[in-house]
Amino acid sequence: MNRSSGAILVLSGPSGAGKSSLIAKIIDQIGPTYFSISTTTRPMREGEIDGVHYHFVSVEEFKREIDEEMFLEYAVVHGNYYGTSLGAVKKALKEGKLVIFDIDVQGHDAVQNRLSDITTSVFITTPTLEELKRRLHSRSTDSEEVIAKRVEMAKREVQRISEYDFLVVNDQLDDAAEVLVSIAKAARMKIPTLQINEFVQLWEANA
Ligand code: 5GP
Repeated sequence: MNRSSGAILVLSGPSGAGKSSLIAKIIDQIGPTYFSISTTTRPMREGEIDGVHYHFVSVEEFKREIDEEMFLEYAVVHGNYYGTSLGAVKKALKEGKLVIFDIDVQGHDAVQNRLSDITTSVFITTPTLEELKRRLHSRSTDSEEVIAKRVEMAKREVQRISEYDFLVVNDQLDDAAEVLVSIAKAARMKIPTLQINEFVQLWEANA
């Protein structure tokens, strides 16, 4: 059976769990993909590039995009707006690509509500809370106050792991990457309901 449309891979998990490093490690091993670049109102971190890591916009601009229904989903995370633009995602899906989202638990909920039949989801975390704190401190891109907020948020997010298809514990990057490659390859094979119906009709027609 040929896939004529793409699929979605949602990756969620606490900031500091290593999602970005994992994505960078696997991106060349999983076929045609589109990594969704979110729009955010949070201040740019050192080393980040506008249009590469995020589209950085003002709160006014973000609210205008909400009014114009430009987002597939959006949420307030750590006091800032974050959202996934619909246009680029639709185009990539049409091209048969695996669309990867790095979004929070609220975003995952919204995507599942709208596109569950083509979505596979993975929660990525550190082995322990202690290790998460260590990684957030060693990254040293955020203030103590921001780190404290992220830790509190992480404690709430892990309570929702059961809403995800898979849990990947990022202890050793290479091992976690290997697991994620398998999941990404399988995610691409997820069949939309419409295509299943078509397949069953064709299958029965050729008796
Ligand atoms: P950070 O500020 O560390 O880059 O991201 C903070 C959190 O926002 C992460 O949990 C990340 O997954 C989430 N996030 C990033 N982009 C989006 C988005 O477009 N939508 C939602 N709902 N969450 C996002």
